Amino acid sequence: MKALCWFGKEDVRVRDVPDPRIVNPKDAIVEISSTAICGSDLHLYGGFIPSMQRGDILGHEFMGRVVEVGSAVHRVKVGDRVVVPFPIACGECWFCKRQEWSLCDNSNPNATMAARLFGFSPAGIFGYSHLTGGYAGGQAQYARVPFADVGCFQVPEALEDDQVLFLSDILPTGFFAAEQGGIQEGDIVAVWGAGPVGQLAIQSAWLLGASAVVAIDRYPERLALAARHRAWLIDYSKDEVLPRLLDMTAGRGADVCIEAVGLEAHGSSFDALYDKGAVKVGMETDRAHALRQAIIACRKGGTVSMAGVFGGLVDKIPFGSAFNKALTLKMGQTHVHRYMPRLLEHIQKGELRPADIITHHFPLDDAPEAYDLFKKKQDGCIKVVLKPAA
Ligand code: NAD
Ligand code: ZN
Repeated sequence: MKALCWFGKEDVRVRDVPDPRIVNPKDAIVEISSTAICGSDLHLYGGFIPSMQRGDILGHEFMGRVVEVGSAVHRVKVGDRVVVPFPIACGECWFCKRQEWSLCDNSNPNATMAARLFGFSPAGIFGYSHLTGGYAGGQAQYARVPFADVGCFQVPEALEDDQVLFLSDILPTGFFAAEQGGIQEGDIVAVWGAGPVGQLAIQSAWLLGASAVVAIDRYPERLALAARHRAWLIDYSKDEVLPRLLDMTAGRGADVCIEAVGLEAHGSSFDALYDKGAVKVGMETDRAHALRQAIIACRKGGTVSMAGVFGGLVDKIPFGSAFNKALTLKMGQTHVHRYMPRLLEHIQKGELRPADIITHHFPLDDAPEAYDLFKKKQDGCIKVVLKPAA
């Protein structure tokens, strides 16, 4: 089959690779109809995530049709049309039972490696380095889905791929970011990053009762899309973020601050320049400018909810601000499975419109160009969907 493989920093190639096989009776094989490139893939593309190996197949946002199941798969059948959540979860461990699917104790075969870095291992993830299992990803014609009864979510035939594909990751992630922010009726929610995750956090914040949502970014097309979803805008390349936010919140600060940027935050302030130097010489691994700003901008007693991915060590976090303002900080890889049924209903009722963020479709063969476009945010690119069968 054809698959998009990682070969190094900003070097991905479409290659012929062996078809996936059932290796465990709980596996299924899915023929992929649509698969997307995520901001998280950009962290791999940029060489920020350790333990990648040449030839690794990328991709953790995919859907398609089940073409084969192992002997211990009972709920899922050949022919089912399914979306696959990005964290791999067994469904039976202590964490899965608590609906903390991205913390599954049984799905990372390289748990020892991850525990050395993190203290304990999170769940395995498709196409996301050997630290999270070394699983082949879904930017390919086929993928093996372990624990298929848990990891294949059936979707109705009546909905288009573009409407349901993002149930695999970024729609639950946007919702999770809003939900763990503890949004109360009437809250003002500020969202750093108007990329795909930020956009879906904005849509989710409305659903959870926000009275105003502020989108912070510098790309006009991303801000324009946020405005179509009724967000107030701050273009941080033109305006100072903190004074603008104070104006918008009658001087109190945002109630909930969502960080949807992650470890490659852009900026030109002193701390952002510090990050660039510190990352270069190996003193820290992640650039946290947006996170610092979110902490400073959050009102006293508010919540900073982090959806953006951090991988290693971060400096100069204003902990004194967080502590003295009694902030709540929440974060994590999304427990995708937990949200899929509810979010499917919102899509069916037209209350969430995840397909609005798609700007580009490409055949899988053009994935290297698509990565380049998405990374550089050229041609108005907000979200790319790849079609392996095209
Ligand atoms: P993206 O790269 O398309 O979007 C990031 C946006 O942040 C860009 O529009 C960029 O202009 C903006 N940005 C950069 N610096 C900024 C700053 N200082 N202030 C405000 N905005 C700034 O990526 P995406 O797909 O939207 O993903 C966003 C983050 O969410 C990534 O870190 C990704 O890894 C993460 N993510 C997390 C999960 C999870 O489970 N928690 C799931 C999916 C994605
Ligand atoms: Zn993703």
